[in-house]
Amino acid sequence: MPNINTPSSGHVGPSANMHRQWLPYTAADSSDLAMLNVAMNIINTRIKGHSPCNAAFQALPGGRTFADIWNDSSVWISYNPVWRHGYFGSTSGKDITIAKYAFSMGHWTIAATLVHELAHVNGAPGHNTQAEDTLKACLLRDLYDPSVIGSLTGPFNDPHMA
Ligand SMILES: [Zn+2]
Repeated sequence: MPNINTPSSGHVGPSANMHRQWLPYTAADSSDLAMLNVAMNIINTRIKGHSPCNAAFQALPGGRTFADIWNDSSVWISYNPVWRHGYFGSTSGKDITIAKYAFSMGHWTIAATLVHELAHVNGAPGHNTQAEDTLKACLLRDLYDPSVIGSLTGPFNDPHMA
């Protein structure tokens, strides 16, 4: 599983970039951390071993299966306390951050955001729907939103929300 950034993990995430922040989950964020754990358990038990999801990930530029990415111990999940309507999360390299808006939507949205961001870890670009498209193969079709493209490098007001 990816690592969760907490104060005791000693992980230093990327520097803040406008509204994008990669912070540890502190004691004050315990309810959001609990939701993250529920989402990660859904992925562990229901998504990681789902063949179409692994195939969809293998077709991404990075060429690794979903399980490959999920089992990569150099992937980190951080916290972004900034709430912006429609902003779910960001990824820089192998550093994912999940934003407060996603937590306001519940654990299924957190699971979908994680899969989307993990697709970016596997090379899906921020300028098309490749990352979001993986949701359709990863048992998260109901959460697929074609307007969610990516925010790897875009400016604050770009339409890329995750
Ligand atoms: Zn994205």
